[in-house]
Amino acid sequence: MAYSYEAPVSQSLFDRASVVTPGGVNSPVRAFRAVGGTPRFMVSGTGPYLTDADGREYVDLVCSWGPMILGHSHPEVIAAVQEAVSRGTSFGTPGEGEVALAEEIVARIEPVEQVRLVSSGTEATMSAIRLARGFTGRAKVVKFAGCYHGHVDALLAAAGSGVATFGLPDTPGVTGATAGDTVVLPYNDLDAVRAAFAAHPGEIACVITEASPGNMGVVPPADGFNAGLKELCAANGALYISDEVMTGFRTSKAGWYGVDGVRPDLMTFGKVMGGGFPAAAFGGRGDVMAYLAPAGPVYQAGTLSGNPVATAAGLAQLRLLDDAAYAKIDAVSAELRSLVGEALTKEGVAHTVSAASNMFSVFFTDQPVRDYDDAKKQDVFRFTAFFHSMLEQGVYLPPSAFESWFVSTAHDERAVERIAAALPAAARAASEATA
Ligand code: PLP
Repeated sequence: MAYSYEAPVSQSLFDRASVVTPGGVNSPVRAFRAVGGTPRFMVSGTGPYLTDADGREYVDLVCSWGPMILGHSHPEVIAAVQEAVSRGTSFGTPGEGEVALAEEIVARIEPVEQVRLVSSGTEATMSAIRLARGFTGRAKVVKFAGCYHGHVDALLAAAGSGVATFGLPDTPGVTGATAGDTVVLPYNDLDAVRAAFAAHPGEIACVITEASPGNMGVVPPADGFNAGLKELCAANGALYISDEVMTGFRTSKAGWYGVDGVRPDLMTFGKVMGGGFPAAAFGGRGDVMAYLAPAGPVYQAGTLSGNPVATAAGLAQLRLLDDAAYAKIDAVSAELRSLVGEALTKEGVAHTVSAASNMFSVFFTDQPVRDYDDAKKQDVFRFTAFFHSMLEQGVYLPPSAFESWFVSTAHDERAVERIAAALPAAARAASEATA
């Protein structure tokens, strides 16, 4: 595909980066490999906008893959960060900010009795499954195809996000022994979960699932799926782990738990709770969390866990996320979904706009998408054309057909109008695209 627009400064930065960094990026989906073209090097962000190194402004529908729920450079978050930085950046001791952030999480999410702070979502899920194995004395972990839980060895099998984007088979470097304790099942299929418990009696430590998946595109749980998982886990002595790294504090004040009310044994969080800084967490039942060192025998630690700057940013962001903020995000999301749907319908492009609360994505197929196999059947080449047309017109979408789109409280009328103005040409490009 030829691109009619250029980004010479980004291209020269990418050339430099490619010399010193594998693939030129520090996280694979940033590299635009699935869509082609030059990844944009961003230099600043304000509200719903990002500005790249060539001086072009974009309406941002990635929001740093979820964290920037108040938009970029929110003045109160920046002020909290500046105040925290002025007191020092890391002490390696406990601090009040960690306590306050943990209290905020416990107050918002009723099943979380205790929480441990870490620095990334990957660390959160890795630690949660270690804790589940330590607590139950069992080895096996059940996960679902198309769900992404970070790049934890045991959880990379049939993963979503970048692994889905690049169609990677199981990753070299993950040993057979590690992968052998992971049971991968199709999403939204409770019979498969029943069969797995029957095939491995007394061996399954936990079932981990994205609370509502966003890493194969947005594929919400079917009615009763999460409740069924919880029931099957309880009946078989396994823990139910709900990964809310993406949905947490985004899909409602209490994340996806606030939407479906199914009580997990353990939960994982990241993204929004860090306010754009590396802060994440796992938490849940008090009796399970009590197994964690130094209270209990399961070891877990981190030099920068509960970092004072990150906790200040996260706390400032969470405190601003009240009912009015979620109402705003839900409304912007609903408006964009209907604008995208109208534009694609007008051009006769087969599509499904799939939403889970305010998270949404577009599948270029008119067939129902209930799992990863369904998601893979879409016309990805149409997404590629759509993506580049939007980019050219100043709208920054996730550079993959298998990712959620994210909006923020800062997406105001002007930002929505700019997106609306770009959609007709992008829909036309999708309709004219060829495989
Ligand atoms: N879990 C889910 C559901 C995610 O979406 C992600 C990241 O996208 C992770 C875990 C890993 O988080 P991190 O990238 O902070 O390691």
